[in-house]
Amino acid sequence: MSEKIKIGIIICDRYRTCAGGKCFRSLRNREGAFSIYRGKEVEVVGFTTCGGCPGGNIEYAPEEMKKNGAQVIHLATGFVVGYPPCPYVTYFRDFIKEKFDLKVVVGTHPIPQKYYIIHKKLGTWDSPKWKELIKPTLTDEKTRLSYD
Ligand code: SF4
Repeated sequence: MSEKIKIGIIICDRYRTCAGGKCFRSLRNREGAFSIYRGKEVEVVGFTTCGGCPGGNIEYAPEEMKKNGAQVIHLATGFVVGYPPCPYVTYFRDFIKEKFDLKVVVGTHPIPQKYYIIHKKLGTWDSPKWKELIKPTLTDEKTRLSYD
């Protein structure tokens, strides 16, 4: 472990009561979108929700996280697996990059298999845009099953 990275996590407000179990487990295991931190030390300096549609907290939360040292903001996997996925996810990603000069990663824990199956049937992620957005959290079937 050498370089220490500070991150903030923003979750979709539909999952506001979530205690972060999957996010923290996958961070510990460096799975899903957190695989980029293998061999690195990571500290979570903020955890909050988007504030509810259309995401009013996105305007403020990253600034507070940045003051606490955040270098990367993760938009949690709920943004891509919700029914429907967040319609603003790419806007939020671009806005946070532009306004706060922070790196943004879409995703946290691996996509659970039960969400993968339904979205596959619905064709939710068939477009090139969505294929790109789910890349960090798609992982493999065995890993997805372990997050069901
Ligand atoms: S769908 Fe998007 S804007 Fe709406 S609550 Fe979820 S993350 Fe926030």
